Amino acid sequence: MALLGAKTFQNYIAGEWVDAASGETFESTSPADGETLGIFPRSGRADVERAVEAAKQAFEDWRLVPAPKRGEILFRFGQLLADGKEDLAELMTHEMGKVLPEARGDVQEAVDMAFYMGGEGRRLFGQTTPSELRDKFNMSVRMPIGVVGVITPWNFPIAIPSWKILPALVCGNTVVFKPATDTPALGERFVELLAEAGVPPGVVNVVHGGGGEVGNAIVTHPDVPVITLTGSRDTGVAVTKAAAERLKHVHLELGGKNAIIVLDDADLDLAVEGILWSAFGTSGQRCTAASRVIAHEAVYDQLVSRLVAEAERLRLGVGWDEDTDVGPVINQAALEKIHSYTGIGRDEGATLLTGGEIASGDGLGKGFYYRPTIFGDVDPQMRIAQEEIFGPTTAVIKVRDADEAIQVSNGIEYGLSSSIFTRDVNRAFRAMRDLKAGITYINAGTIGAEVHLPFGGTKGTGNGHREAGQAALDFFTEWKSIYVDYSGKLQKAQIDTAE
Ligand code: NAD
Repeated sequence: MALLGAKTFQNYIAGEWVDAASGETFESTSPADGETLGIFPRSGRADVERAVEAAKQAFEDWRLVPAPKRGEILFRFGQLLADGKEDLAELMTHEMGKVLPEARGDVQEAVDMAFYMGGEGRRLFGQTTPSELRDKFNMSVRMPIGVVGVITPWNFPIAIPSWKILPALVCGNTVVFKPATDTPALGERFVELLAEAGVPPGVVNVVHGGGGEVGNAIVTHPDVPVITLTGSRDTGVAVTKAAAERLKHVHLELGGKNAIIVLDDADLDLAVEGILWSAFGTSGQRCTAASRVIAHEAVYDQLVSRLVAEAERLRLGVGWDEDTDVGPVINQAALEKIHSYTGIGRDEGATLLTGGEIASGDGLGKGFYYRPTIFGDVDPQMRIAQEEIFGPTTAVIKVRDADEAIQVSNGIEYGLSSSIFTRDVNRAFRAMRDLKAGITYINAGTIGAEVHLPFGGTKGTGNGHREAGQAALDFFTEWKSIYVDYSGKLQKAQIDTAE
């Protein structure tokens, strides 16, 4: 199906659609069948310069637009997204590859975020406090910061930009946005809809291109004080180093190696469903995907045999076909990386229980498809149990009890999502307390975040910030404390406090 064909797209700077200064381009192609979806500007430092200048100028007006008015624009944006949900979801099945119900969910998450953050326009609460002195008033208020550099991955091409751009805007900042080079068409649509919703020229700018060029130019630009990045751990480290020289505010959402614990008292039907959804949904390409299963020895054999049987029933195919369970992975490099981990797992002595191969029959050879893969007899220290594979591969680890399960779950460098299946409330509460992760699910898989709660991870998953919920506002604003003395005389804090 020709969705966009070889249409040529442009950057969006200061409210105008413009080519890259160099005139160079790159193509977006579908991971499902290789179809060309559009031609996009391969931008560079000069384009980032223009975009930052536009955002810097626009900031001076935008910060003064009453926050409820900024919120109203987000409400209109949310409605436009909701109206265009089917079209966006279909485009997503082509450009990113996820299956239709998941693509609809991706768009819905952005709708939810638009309405949630739109509402913040009438809150953005600060604090008032008593003063230690007479006739003095104290308060703290949130202030916008300036130009925010937004750098996003391809796996949630509508949802993730919404987690960053919408709170940045309602707080009064302006934005330079670089979508992933695998999903530029969706990034472009996102910004088109923002403009249609009434975001003024220069407030949001999009510059397409690679991380090394456009991304780095944003991160190192002196007039971009705030950077928010979702991506791999290596990229997060590179961005942190590049931003350190100017002491920028850096928000990072990085990788995961999430585990589902299944204890001996678990509802196994539910656990099997939760594992399949978390391990193979989005072809395992979620930062919160369950790439480890930690099974109590009493249920290990039963769980493994049921998982294998169910995994073998999953149908691979193009995401826009309603019968497909598992779509393609994003590109050739991802396919090769995922397959290389099958070799690593075998060499390490794990047992390949199912999958472990590139799928090519029935037209699948035109895209990048990998069979859902399960390893058994996995040692927690093996590379397949430690490193992020970002594909439909999960490793099952056998443990003796709940304490060992938690220790194994925590024994990785990441700390994003975690899950436990148990009917014992005491074990569930201990897990909530002891799992070292930003998110814990009880009797559900590792995926399913809602926009009004903080989202993010501990340890190597990030640097302590959170997006979504109220927590996002803390990253996109700075606190200002204000003291108003109406005594008519000089009152010295900590000194004139006798009365
Ligand atoms: P990636 O790190 O390769 O790229 C992410 C973005 O960073 C892209 O836009 C890329 O162009 C840009 N980039 C790359 N190098 C850069 C540099 N030196 N300077 C500035 N920008 C640069 O990641 P990806 O392959 O697009 O996405 C997959 C990764 O994202 C996985 O590790 C996954 O776990 C992670 N992820 C995390 C979350 C989360 O919320 N924790 C959510 C989704 C994805």
